[in-house]
Amino acid sequence: MANFEDIVQRCRTAFASGKTKDVNFRRKQLESLLKMYEEHENEMINALDADLRRPKQESLVVETEFLKNDIKHILYNLNDWVKPETPEKSLVNLLDDVQIFNDPYGVVLVIGAWNYPLQLLLVPVAAAIAAGNCVVIKPSEISTNCAKFVTEMVPKYLDNDCYPVVSGGPTETAELLKQRFDYIFYTGSTRVGKIIHAAANKHLTPVTLELGGKSPCYIDKSVELRTAVKRILWGKLINCGQTCIAPDYVLCSKEIQEKFIAEAKEVLKEWYGEDIKSSPDLSRIINHNNFQRLLGLMKSGKVAVGGNYDASERFIEPTILIDVKEDDAIMQEEIFGPLLPIFTVENAYDAIKFINSREKPLVIYVFSKNSKVIKELRENTTSGGFSSNETLMHCGVDTLPFGGVGSSGMGRYHGKYGFETFTHKKSCLGKDLHPLGELLASGRYPPYSDRKSTLLGILLRKRRPFPKLYLSHLLAVGLGIGLTVLFTHYMQGKLFTR
Ligand code: NAD
Repeated sequence: MANFEDIVQRCRTAFASGKTKDVNFRRKQLESLLKMYEEHENEMINALDADLRRPKQESLVVETEFLKNDIKHILYNLNDWVKPETPEKSLVNLLDDVQIFNDPYGVVLVIGAWNYPLQLLLVPVAAAIAAGNCVVIKPSEISTNCAKFVTEMVPKYLDNDCYPVVSGGPTETAELLKQRFDYIFYTGSTRVGKIIHAAANKHLTPVTLELGGKSPCYIDKSVELRTAVKRILWGKLINCGQTCIAPDYVLCSKEIQEKFIAEAKEVLKEWYGEDIKSSPDLSRIINHNNFQRLLGLMKSGKVAVGGNYDASERFIEPTILIDVKEDDAIMQEEIFGPLLPIFTVENAYDAIKFINSREKPLVIYVFSKNSKVIKELRENTTSGGFSSNETLMHCGVDTLPFGGVGSSGMGRYHGKYGFETFTHKKSCLGKDLHPLGELLASGRYPPYSDRKSTLLGILLRKRRPFPKLYLSHLLAVGLGIGLTVLFTHYMQGKLFTR
């Protein structure tokens, strides 16, 4: 096992040297990471293929292009993001500097998961670099080929003192977590998320936990079903269902269920042909343990579509299950595979009741042409994200925060939200020592009196901020009055000297 104490200490020394505070240094590191993505795109795609038998098109969309766009977005905006903010001031602070500075936390730990082993690790790493931190990078050991790529390649492109890569599984991670970090960003299961939270708590380290759970998908009777089926199955089957925001299960009426199944059979044939196993467009289950776990879940309810599997390839056919019960295993734990149970409900009201009786999901999907139904679902449920008539795509909008709530996680990232996650907002008040300011504020000092209290009350009273719209008018009027007074004085001076 590597000496984690030394690794973290080296990061601390590097952070203390101040080099990551230099925005140009951060930009250079990010540009170099972008170069790594560009120069080694094929190796990344090959590693994903070796780990998950991921089709190239999927890897391009959800990993390599995603990563490149993420860094470009940061590079285009970083100079604006790092600027201190100047919030509104009240009367009492009129003469002061009131600013919020964007401070890096220091040495942060980023722990990635195996299902999108590059994106889920390197997007938060880039955000942490942008914010000026040193980062200990821990890939998931389960996606071995991607972990090897990161361990070998990242040190060739990033500063080795500031951004070390560490490898290992639960034992090593448990050891690593004994170190004191200034921030921990974790992606993975809710079970391990609790372990990470507990370890962070020992040092009162703030955390972001990007966790999982069961994301429901409600289909309303008003839907255009063919499109809905395609979007739901695509969201379910990309990466063979091993996606944290995959629609976990469907909620719909019995009538919609029948139509959904008929459409799904046609769509699957269109996408993967008669022999799905021989299609190059469906990934495989990551390992034997998960394969066995999924076979166990397949025992719930009745198979309506699919149901075949092959252990030698860790292949599981896209499978739709019906007649599942609320307490069946498949309706209890996150599926994380190509199995789609349908749980029948009468209407949107029942769907809301069902969703609200469970843990808060990472995302809720609704398919409907009726905007009232969509609004009902959105306003009466709680989830990390919400998407109507689409699956997964909300994750690619870099101006939207991505994250869970309750048992699906805490914190958010992507785009500016990633930068802010790794930034401490330092509140700064700057005053001078001018006698006028001191005189105005002297009412705060003992001996206290009613007169001082009244004066302070007037100064501190909350007032509605003056609308910015009129500020320019006010300034113009003030300037006019000022110039008039000056001009009058000047003319009077001239007259007197005559
Ligand atoms: P995983 O097994 O790769 O674990 C994630 C990380 O935790 C790894 O780096 C691993 O080394 C570490 N780890 C595992 N056990 C540990 C332990 N006992 N102590 C300390 N560290 C430990 O991934 P996983 O947990 O199987 O990932 C799948 C889960 O992640 C699913 O629940 C999925 O929904 C969730 N997920 C969430 C997101 C999100 O963005 N919210 C994204 C992807 C996956």
